[in-house]
Amino acid sequence: MAITRITTNICIVGAGPAGATTSIMLSKMGIAHTIVDAADFPRDKICGDGLDLNVMRVLNHIDPSITTHELPNHTGFQASYGMRFILPGGKQVDLFRRKAGRNPHHMKVPIFYISKRGNFDNFLIGKLDRAFADVHFGTRITKIEKEGATWKLTGKKQNEQVEIEAKFLIGADGDHSVVLKHVGERKIDRNNYAAAVRQYWKGVTGLHPQRLIEVYFPKTLPLSYFWIFPLPDGEANVGFGMASNYVAKKNINVVKEFSNLIKTDPCLTERFKNAEPQETVKGWGIPMSGIGRKAHGDGWLLVGDAASIVCPTSGEGIGSGMLSGYTAAHFVKRAVEKMDYSEKMFTAYDREIHKRLHLEEKIYRFVNYIPAKAFTAGINMVLSNKLFQNWYTNKEMPKWIETAYNTPIEVNMH
Ligand SMILES: Cc1cc2nc3c(=O)[nH]c(=O)nc-3n(C[C@H](O)[C@H](O)[C@H](O)COP(=O)(O)OP(=O)(O)OC[C@H]3O[C@@H](n4cnc5c(N)ncnc54)[C@H](O)[C@@H]3O)c2cc1C
Repeated sequence: MAITRITTNICIVGAGPAGATTSIMLSKMGIAHTIVDAADFPRDKICGDGLDLNVMRVLNHIDPSITTHELPNHTGFQASYGMRFILPGGKQVDLFRRKAGRNPHHMKVPIFYISKRGNFDNFLIGKLDRAFADVHFGTRITKIEKEGATWKLTGKKQNEQVEIEAKFLIGADGDHSVVLKHVGERKIDRNNYAAAVRQYWKGVTGLHPQRLIEVYFPKTLPLSYFWIFPLPDGEANVGFGMASNYVAKKNINVVKEFSNLIKTDPCLTERFKNAEPQETVKGWGIPMSGIGRKAHGDGWLLVGDAASIVCPTSGEGIGSGMLSGYTAAHFVKRAVEKMDYSEKMFTAYDREIHKRLHLEEKIYRFVNYIPAKAFTAGINMVLSNKLFQNWYTNKEMPKWIETAYNTPIEVNMH
């Protein structure tokens, strides 16, 4: 078998949103590195495809014209101006901005974009700067060893063996990360994990004209939500996610429950009557923040799902993954400048990638603590409350937009 040998200072394993952002930021800092991914792009990733304002925030730091010009004019991205919640009894609550506040421009800013991950991840890959990034796709890393201070990675690219020697390793290879396994941190904690499925559909009726993303809380299935996220060209990303501890406790078959909801739930059946699934139901796990996974060590860092930093209340992990990639690049830059990749250079990293998730972690711990029935009642009470609705649309949404478009991302390395 032919062998390709690569020697590099920094190796990123995985080129999803977290790995690609790390690479893009390292290139902007003028730092040469290698990035490998098992897949050839474009590739699919099982996801809800919802890009929140955290994603826009990082994109604005990469290049502001991405959000002002590229996404609004790209046929693969559907703008969405808010959320429709469907409460356990079937009542609909639409949360989107109806009035211009202090900044009328905010009315034109989508709260989400929805884009198939095949499209979005490939779009980000297009931003890699090959002057600094040595890119190897279609290369699956199968073995990781450390000899002294040197990482030795073995991978496979078709019939070729790939051997990489690196001084620093970044695990950006998602929930089933090989880097995570090697550093001994892959422990699944069902209290901070969700099981989720996705199926693309065409022809779902009753979508909101502002293309609100829809989140439905079925009465019979607590600690879960069903979603319909409108995509371009009349397609929708339809899915269902549930807390893993509840799945295990009640022995729930998530795929079956998802299909049953579409076939039998009065809030959904009519809307799917003439719709067509575009694929079989596909499942994947969601590693949520709150597990306290160690995401750094001597000569290594984890970013994105490998670091278990998905927002536990929403299930959104693309933005937090990209923020972790942005943060990781700053820590790596300092390590490169000091020529020191030892653990002490990264001790503040875990704090920095979790600092925006503390409130959500607390809420999720509380939700895990209360009886499942109280969750359903609580959702009903909060979301149908007019004060909450006003606060959400008139205070929270403008604040998120302001942060995404005008607030620099701070990284405190001390
Ligand atoms: C059903 C579902 C719905 C979701 N919905 C949303 C949503 O709407 N919005 C949101 O923000 N988040 C959502 N998430 C979470 C989101 O998908 C993840 O948090 C996000 O993809 C994490 O990005 P990442 O770059 O860390 O990992 P990934 O996107 O998983 O990328 C990892 C990359 O590593 C590569 N790789 C893996 N193993 C190897 C190896 N051995 N060698 C080389 N390369 C390797 C893979 O090919 C892949 O390209 C959802 C998750 C699920 C499961």
